[in-house]
Amino acid sequence: MSMPFTFHILTFGCQMNVNDSLWLAGVLSARGGKEADVGTADVICLNTCSVREKPEIRVKNMLSQICGSRKANPPLLIAVLGCVAKQHGEDLLSFPNVRLVAAADHLFELPDVIEKILQNPDQRVALLDFTEDFVEREEGIPLFSAPTAYVNIMQGCDNFCTYCIVPYTRGRQRSREAGAVLSECRQKIGYGAKELVLLGQNVNAFGLDACRGHKTQRPSFARLCQEVAALPGLQRLRYTSPHPKDMTEEDIAAFSTLPALCPSLHLPMQAGSDRILRRMGRGYTRKDFLLLVERLKNARPDIALSTDIIVGFPGETEEDLNETLSLMEACGFVSSYSFCYSDRPEARASTFPDKISQETKVKRLEAVQSLQEELSRKWLASRCQTETDILLEGPSKRDAEGRKSWQGRDPYNCLVHVHLPEDAGKRGESVPVRIREAGKHCLFADPLP
Ligand code: SF4
Repeated sequence: MSMPFTFHILTFGCQMNVNDSLWLAGVLSARGGKEADVGTADVICLNTCSVREKPEIRVKNMLSQICGSRKANPPLLIAVLGCVAKQHGEDLLSFPNVRLVAAADHLFELPDVIEKILQNPDQRVALLDFTEDFVEREEGIPLFSAPTAYVNIMQGCDNFCTYCIVPYTRGRQRSREAGAVLSECRQKIGYGAKELVLLGQNVNAFGLDACRGHKTQRPSFARLCQEVAALPGLQRLRYTSPHPKDMTEEDIAAFSTLPALCPSLHLPMQAGSDRILRRMGRGYTRKDFLLLVERLKNARPDIALSTDIIVGFPGETEEDLNETLSLMEACGFVSSYSFCYSDRPEARASTFPDKISQETKVKRLEAVQSLQEELSRKWLASRCQTETDILLEGPSKRDAEGRKSWQGRDPYNCLVHVHLPEDAGKRGESVPVRIREAGKHCLFADPLP
């Protein structure tokens, strides 16, 4: 960068957004930029999410707040990135100081564009079309909180679930070149990653891009996992999010054949009734989902499954809700993210009749969340007096006796706190432990001798 500048990145939404923001911060830093707080930064980037109404409203409120508080500083450059940028486009340039709006596809060119706008404060830029391919980005300083690093393997989605805005804000599915994915994995392992998480809207459709007639030169997702798992220095591999209809025999078998692949899987179910699954356009039935869970548990009996659930989808009845609750119980999810349905622009369900009242949605959400609490409590209790390994992430709060503790995740992606001798413990270290007791959303353990 020809001129020194400071920047601040605010990130909303999914892990892919978090990972994109880390990449941008790494490149801006490599080009001489310095991170600063939102009150003083020359450049403020909002990497946004519009998967539900709430995050979209939060972005607009945040913009008004920043523009309101920083109007005294003409050179301030606000860049709105990601899904709200794609959804609202050039309208966002009407906010004072917003001089750049860019959809996620254009992240690769942001460092250059930010530089140009800093040199020409009157410039306003909108980068909103979808790129034909996933465009590889320059290598920056890989920023991640060791021992876990995330690697995006694709962009966009071809499924068009009727409630979802993602295909309209992130475009059709485009998979990265496998070689580019592997080189980023190697780079992050080189910078201390012990665990890698492969990211995509629909990871197990890797390489099956509709825009290329579902055929590309890329390996299957299961093959890609094998290649990543074989990288020297990697201890653990995870991925998110798969689509239940795209889980292949190979993907399932990998949970028993690939030692590095952790026995935890986030498998979005969304609903439990066939009628609602059909209206959502999910491409599987309740029976298919149950069978898939059974096959996963056959492959890896101790697998920890988590999920996503939407309540209050248009036309949803109490019977439909009971189907969702009973499927949750049958699958024994260890945790879940659950949300009230909200209309999304362009998503087909926004035109469906029989919308559910907010009051009913909230009641149904409470039913789902209280069942989940029960399922999680049972699973956490079943872990007591068992042994496992945790990958240390950092010091956690001192324990009840005021002793210094560390926290980390076990192979089931559960947070575990362990008390270690004063001088022991370092980030990324794998520590064998015995689970002593269960907390509400975590476990407490003692180190094994
Ligand atoms: S699979 Fe469905 S819910 Fe997930 S990103 Fe694609 S369209 Fe959205």
